[in-house]
Amino acid sequence: MADDTSRWGFETRAIHAGQRPDPRTGSVIVPIYATSTFAQDGVGGLREGGYEYSRTANPTRSALEEALASLEGGRHALAFASGMAAADVALRAMTRPGDHIVLGGDAYGGTFRLLDKVLSLWGVEYTTVDLADVDAARAAVRPNTRVIWCETPTNPLLGIADIAALAQVAAVAGARLVVDNTFATPYLQSPLGLGADVVLHSTTKYLGGHSDVVGGALITSDDELHEQFGFLRNSVGAVPGPFDAWLTLRGAKTLGLRMERHSDNAERVVEALVGHPKVRKVYYPGLPGHPGHEVAAKQMRRFGGMVSFAVEGGEEAALAVAANTKLFILGESLGGVESLIEHPGRMTHASTTGSPLQVPADVVRLSVGIEDGTDLVGDLLQALG
Ligand SMILES: *Cc1c(COP(=O)(O)O)cnc(C)c1O
Repeated sequence: MADDTSRWGFETRAIHAGQRPDPRTGSVIVPIYATSTFAQDGVGGLREGGYEYSRTANPTRSALEEALASLEGGRHALAFASGMAAADVALRAMTRPGDHIVLGGDAYGGTFRLLDKVLSLWGVEYTTVDLADVDAARAAVRPNTRVIWCETPTNPLLGIADIAALAQVAAVAGARLVVDNTFATPYLQSPLGLGADVVLHSTTKYLGGHSDVVGGALITSDDELHEQFGFLRNSVGAVPGPFDAWLTLRGAKTLGLRMERHSDNAERVVEALVGHPKVRKVYYPGLPGHPGHEVAAKQMRRFGGMVSFAVEGGEEAALAVAANTKLFILGESLGGVESLIEHPGRMTHASTTGSPLQVPADVVRLSVGIEDGTDLVGDLLQALG
């Protein structure tokens, strides 16, 4: 049985939830159970933990799942081979042909592609809408809407949606609210506590935190939904291996510390970019002028490590900045200890070209890492020239 970890603070849960010392050896760290199958004591006689086959359940993965559920304040968590595997299982468990999904306006490109190019083949429709506008979200809901899929902050323009308000819209519509909490992480934001039905993570990003593993997760307190997700995951086999689960769990132990430092460094970067003559606009929910600032301040502990900005001079100038940083590594992904820079229009969000989700061509996105903040600011200033 899981410990009741709810009385512990966040950092204590990150280090201890699901991670008791191994009862047989005393190993302080959860072992990597590199095994596909488990011995049974007679037919049907499963040993402690009820393990039989690692697609269905594996002890290293179970430890990660217990920790993730605790961090998000949910009853259940399931770990997946990637964030997209988690999204696929969530969407297929919650929809049938003829159903409809409301998707946030600058959703992660891969989520948009999953709806636009894959689920559409199975007769599931979607509408994109700016979820920062609650009335627009309500107006986008149809009688056959089953899911409202929300990211906040959004990727890459850092838009903010009011999770509690959207939870009400979903409840009235008889739909589920899914919050992709990848950017905020459970340290900065707790969607289940605000009324969301499901939280999704790409644990590839901040939860793993070291750019060394790909993974995903679904967290919910709804027993029935959890069972459906688990059934589908076991049916399609979208599971992480034990080493991936172990790396993710190790990364998650320091999530709180890292998010504080990511937020500190992002604030310093934003301070340097705002008012810079080569910068047209800075997108960061911590800025008082950001349209979602008040909602973000209400539902987030701090504003996180993602910063986007538009460069004076259009796409060419933006590409030049992305090419000229020395410390910020040019690359996709985010949430690792090292700082990254990318051009969403040509890279992460290329699949949205020509769609309503297209990103302005002069925007570059930063994943601000946990290096020395002075070095990061210096690197950006030299790249801007
Ligand atoms: C990366 C990402 C995903 C997809 O996760 P993968 O682990 O790459 O499959 C989904 N949502 C957001 C916000 C992401 O950043």
